[in-house]
Amino acid sequence: VAAAVPQAGGEAGNAALTLLRRVGVVDPTDLDDYRAHGGYSALRRAFAIGPAAVIREVTESGLVGRGGAAFPTGRKWQATASQPARPHYLVCNADESEPGTFKDRVLMEGDPYALVEAMTVAAYAVGAERGYLYLRGEYPRALRRVRHAVDRARARGLLGDDILGQGFAFDIEIRRGAGAYICGEETALFNSIEGYRGEPRSKPPFPVEQGLFGRPTVENNVETLVNVLPILNLGAQAYAAIGTGGSTGPKLFCVSGSVARPGVYELPFGATLGELLALAGVRAGLRAVLLGGAAGGFVRPDELDLPLTFEGTRQAGTTLGSGVVMAFDDTVPLPRLLLRIAEFFRDESCGQCVPCRVGTVRQQEALHRIAERTGAAAAGDIALLREVGRAMRDASICGLGQTAWNAVESAIDRLGAYE
Ligand code: NAD
Ligand code: SF4
Repeated sequence: VAAAVPQAGGEAGNAALTLLRRVGVVDPTDLDDYRAHGGYSALRRAFAIGPAAVIREVTESGLVGRGGAAFPTGRKWQATASQPARPHYLVCNADESEPGTFKDRVLMEGDPYALVEAMTVAAYAVGAERGYLYLRGEYPRALRRVRHAVDRARARGLLGDDILGQGFAFDIEIRRGAGAYICGEETALFNSIEGYRGEPRSKPPFPVEQGLFGRPTVENNVETLVNVLPILNLGAQAYAAIGTGGSTGPKLFCVSGSVARPGVYELPFGATLGELLALAGVRAGLRAVLLGGAAGGFVRPDELDLPLTFEGTRQAGTTLGSGVVMAFDDTVPLPRLLLRIAEFFRDESCGQCVPCRVGTVRQQEALHRIAERTGAAAAGDIALLREVGRAMRDASICGLGQTAWNAVESAIDRLGAYE
């Protein structure tokens, strides 16, 4: 893990704003150590200002979801809080499965009480008495740490019927995933918690109206929730001063591949891709960088001045997604890499809708044919890939099918993968 300090906020501000500031510093099993490092000050402030003001702060901070879709968090919270139907639920999506994403694991293993505190703040804001933490099954250490933190918090009156004597009741139940990528899709995740097959539901209705058990539900990613602590501790304005106008706050980036120092890096939005790769020690012969994971897109080595913001990457025709940055040097055979991505989507499609169920297979078959011909595409292969890709993007129910062609398309169009 490597942490780079955000640019704004002054010395004291910087210390409070860094998402990774306690990782590797506190004992993740010790609640008192967490409190000694500023823990539970955000919850105290939340109780002092009340739920409506907490939502206002989160809205004014400009925080958007860090799971990949960048939906405004304050809007989601407000929409759930205002639903008359009861009960309301909070679900933390910790099913971090996007290939190349490992930032939530670092947060949960290194600073688990921060997530427990942040979930409590969110639940207080939206009026939820129960929270579910849906944790990726392949993260046994994160499970141990978070489970221990939940148990200790409950024993010390920081979860339960009367948190900090404020008359607010909230508790957290941990559920483990079983290895299916699709269960990270929020509605498939709800089905999984409810005991059904992990298949996505059609949206709308959105979870803020009908989510878990058909009730109003806020679903947030781990990193999104942890950002709520510096927002409350420093105030929305100081938080929003970090990053850019369109992408506020600090961001965790997962850097892997052809770099000397792979790991999780914290930077303010607006740093460039080149700056991030320099920190990670990019190796000579860089051929391409995959942003946003398997569902993301490639950029070329001559595009390293790309600002790492939601608006900047969108403008450049790519995506920041959940913060995946995978570097590939010229020793990596691109056709094999694309085939591997296609196999992943074929295997992980839940099979519920035809464009994705059939499209991911056709895509994998075409890429297999190309890879067998040592990377040369025959007449018709690219046209077929485009036709299948369009059908998946336009007609699939959920994000998996809609994005399964993204990386392949960008490799063809931006990298000239088969020329
Ligand atoms: P989405 O754009 O459909 O929704 C994003 C969030 O906003 C959801 O919670 C949704 O309920 C909410 N929302 C959207 N419109 C709304 C409205 N009008 N009213 C209220 N709420 C609304 O995206 P998605 O399918 O949830 O997520 C796709 C993203 O997930 C992709 O960017 C992908 O990169 C990312 N992803 C991340 C991982 C990971 O491990 N972190 C894994 C797979 C995919
Ligand atoms: Fe399932 Fe794919 Fe359809 Fe999503 S797009 S519901 S993963 S078949």
